[in-house]
Amino acid sequence: MKNPPVCDYEGSDYQQSFWEKNDRRYEDAAEAIALKHLLPTGGKHLLEIGAGAGRNTPRYTGFEHITLLDYSTTQLQQAIQKLGIQSCYKFIAADVYRLPFAPAVFDTATMIRTLHHLSEPVIALQQINQCLVSEAVFILEFANKRNLKSILRYWLGKQHWNPFSTEAVEFADLNFDFHPASVYAMLEESKFLIEKQVGVSYLRARFLKRILPLWLMLAKESMLQNFASWTALSPSIFLRARVKQTKTEEAITDFNMIFRCPACGHYPLEDTPSKITCGLCGRIYPIVEGVYDFRLTE
Ligand SMILES: [Zn+2]
Repeated sequence: MKNPPVCDYEGSDYQQSFWEKNDRRYEDAAEAIALKHLLPTGGKHLLEIGAGAGRNTPRYTGFEHITLLDYSTTQLQQAIQKLGIQSCYKFIAADVYRLPFAPAVFDTATMIRTLHHLSEPVIALQQINQCLVSEAVFILEFANKRNLKSILRYWLGKQHWNPFSTEAVEFADLNFDFHPASVYAMLEESKFLIEKQVGVSYLRARFLKRILPLWLMLAKESMLQNFASWTALSPSIFLRARVKQTKTEEAITDFNMIFRCPACGHYPLEDTPSKITCGLCGRIYPIVEGVYDFRLTE
C-alpha cells in the first residue's frame, strides 16, 4: 500500500509565526491546564508525537526519558535549541505511519495538534498502540468540527459543511477537523479505552482576547474545562486513553534498545553514534546534529 501523505513542517517558522507573533498565549496556557488534568504524575518513558519545536515538552515533568518525534528535522533542531542535548531526550525524525520503535517501549504518549494533519488516522493510532506497554496512557488532542462557532456559522448559512455529520472536514490541504464520535470510534478500533475528556480553548476568539486580560481568560478557561468538557463543543478536545489489550511483549526498559527498522520491521536496532544500521535489511539511518533520521524516501 502506498504510504499516506505527510504534512511536513520542514523549514517552517511555525513556532514563531503561529505561536509567538500571533499572540496565542491563551491557547498555549489553555493546553497547559488540560495537560495538568490529564498527565500521569510521572513515568519511565514518554513519546511525544508531532513534538515540533518542543513547545509542550517542558510540561512533561516526572518522566525519566522523553522521545520527541516529528517529521521535520528543522522543527527538531529548534527543539534541541530550546531543550538542549541531554541524556534524557531523543529527537527522532520519522513518519507517524511508520514509527521506528520496537513493541512495548513507552508507558505514556502524547499527540497534540497532529491528528489534525492525518488523512489516515487509524493507521497512525495503531502504530502508536504497538509501541506502548500494557495499560500505557495516551493523550490525544484533536480539532473538533462540532464546536460552538461552526454550529452557529452553519445555522446562519455562513458555512456549507455540516458540523454534526461524522466525516472529517478537510478545510485546507492536509488540515482536518474531526467529529468527536469519529475520534472515539478510531480509538476503539485502535484498541484504546477512553478515560477522560477535556474541552480546550473555549474562548478562542480575537474580540475576547482584545477585551479580556489573559488571567481572566484563563480563570474562565479552567472553569469551562472543569464543567463543560462533557458537551464536547470546544474547538480543541484532549482525550486521555489507555491501551486496552494486554501486551505479550516484555516492556523494553533499556533506553538504547528502543528502535525498530521502519522499512523491514526488524528490531531491536543497536543505537550507535552517527548512524544506525538495520541488521536485517542493511538500511542505514543517519544521526545528524542530534536528530535520528528514520524517514524513508520511498
Ligand atoms: Zn531493516
